[in-house]
Formats: sequence, structure tokens, C-alpha cells
Amino acid sequence: MAQIIDGNLVAKQIRENLKEKVEFLKSSGEQISLAVIIVGDNNPSAVYVKNKRKDCEEIGIFSAEYALPENTTEEELLDLIYTLNNDDKINGILVQLPLPKHISEEKILKSVNPLKDVDAFHPQNVGRIMLGDYLFLPCTPSGIMDLLQYYNINCEGKSCVVIGRSNIVGKPMAMLMLQNNATVTICHSKTENLSEYTKKADILIVAIGKAKYIKSDMIKENAVIIDVGMNRDENGKLCGDVDFDDVKEKCSFITPVPGGVGPMTRATLMKNTVNAALLQKK
Ligand code: NAP
Repeated sequence: MAQIIDGNLVAKQIRENLKEKVEFLKSSGEQISLAVIIVGDNNPSAVYVKNKRKDCEEIGIFSAEYALPENTTEEELLDLIYTLNNDDKINGILVQLPLPKHISEEKILKSVNPLKDVDAFHPQNVGRIMLGDYLFLPCTPSGIMDLLQYYNINCEGKSCVVIGRSNIVGKPMAMLMLQNNATVTICHSKTENLSEYTKKADILIVAIGKAKYIKSDMIKENAVIIDVGMNRDENGKLCGDVDFDDVKEKCSFITPVPGGVGPMTRATLMKNTVNAALLQKK
């Protein structure tokens, strides 16, 4: 049976550490603030925003929420971001995606001050990841690197396969593994004979959004399995992209869903917000 990678445990330690830092900053008169913007009434987004508020409260970060109606114009949203960019009391700005179709996500993400871009979605921050000289890392890949480190899983020289090439997970994930000296292969929906790649992976990171897609016959014996997926199974139960019950006897480590990568994504957002405040202080 694989060792279960406990994201809740590692995330809790990160939050406790951040709480101390925030208390210390508060004692010298610094209040850290995160602005969270949500446009329209997308249910999953509302849940994510609620969780972010909860994390902020626990750590002592002030959460400024801007819930805008569905018919908000691009101009109005840009105006709000402009105001927040120039507000010294706001350290981090997060625009909850997806945005309504009439608003260009690209334009909006580009408008956030890169020093307040706690999601690391601004092109400047994305480019800095390529160079290995970053201010912020996107929350999910960064959280995964912290999990690997916590469990002493060494990436150097290992064959790592990342399935998925999204800008927020797959691509930056591959880049971080490369920077940690893994030999990296990126697979996607057009990859032919996916199993040929996955079966060779010492570390397999799956971010495709397809419930229980990866089965035991697709993985290498003793592989480390990182499951990013968040899906509902046939019974409406939360599950990952990996068939946990099927692979758990064959791999060496595995992240469960829930309780694996998800809590780390949340904790990393808090970490990025505190780092943003420290960067702005400099
Ligand atoms: P996305 O933007 O939809 O990207 C999915 C990627 O998977 C694409 O690159 C796609 O290939 C690839 N793909 C889809 N089906 C495939 C298949 N059968 N074989 C190989 N590749 C396939 O999704 P995302 O934002 O990266 O998120 C992926 C999953 O992670 C979702 O379930 C999401 O909910 C979850 N997620 C979880 C967290 C967390 O904190 N746990 C954070 C973010 C995302 P193409 O590029 O060719 O289309």
C-alpha cells in the first residue's frame, strides 16, 4: 500500500507558520490584505472565494471581497483593478476565474500589478518562472513542490510525466520539475499512446479533469502519483483524475482527493499574499 501524501497536514503547518509571520507584522503595525474579485454567480467560484475568506481569517489576513454582478463591463472591472493596484493597503489581488464571456481574461490578468499578482498569472510572472527567477509561483504547482519536499521525494534524475498543459497547472508544473532536475515529459489530449509515457514515469502528475482516468495498468511499479484533478464520480462524490483504489497498491506515494493537492493550493495562496506584502515593503 502506498504512503498517502497528507496535504491537509502540510497545509496546516504552512498556515501555522504564516500565522506567526502575520502576527509579527501586525505587532509592528502592518496589516496584510488580499483583494478577491468575483464576477457573476458561478457556484464553484463562490465556494472557492468562501474558502479563501476562511483561510485569510485563520491566518489574520484582511480579506477584501468584491462581488460584482454578471453584467459588469470589462471597463468597470479594469477600473476596480486599477484602483486596487494603486491602493497601498492592498497587498494581493486575485480575480476569480472563470470570468463571464464578455470579459477578456487575458486583458484582466495582464492589468494586475505583477507585485500584487498572488496567482502568478501575469505574463511578467509567467515569464519569470521560465527563467527560474520568480516573485510568485502559481499556487497548485508550488503546493505540489512543497509536498514533494516535505515527503523527501527527490526529483533529480527522475523521469517525470505531467499530463495536462494548462497555463495554471500543467505548464508551470513541468517547468518547476525541470528546475528541480527531473527529466520531464508533458502529455496532453493529442498525445498518442499515453500509457507508453505514463508507464515510464517515476513521478506522474495528472491534471486533466477526467474522473479516475489513470488506472494501475498505466503506471510504473512504485511510482509517485500526484493527482491534481477535482471531479465528481458517478455518485457525485469528489474524486481525482487517478483511480485511487485501483493504483494504491502499486505506487509508492499518492495524493488523495480530497486532502492532497487541494489544501496545498489554498495554503500557497496565503503564502503568496504574505510574500507580496514583504516584497512591497522592500
Ligand atoms: P484544463 O485547463 O482543462 O486542462 C486540462 C489539460 O488536460 C489540457 O492540457 C488537456 O489537453 C489535457 N487532457 C484532457 N484530457 C486528456 C486526456 N484524455 N489525455 C491527456 N491529456 C488530457 O484544466 P486545469 O485547469 O489544468 O485543471 C485540471 C484538473 O485539475 C481539473 O480537474 C481541475 O478541477 C483540477 N484543478 C485542481 C486544483 C487543485 O487545487 N486541486 C487546481 C487547479 C485545477 P489539451 O491541452 O490538448 O486540451
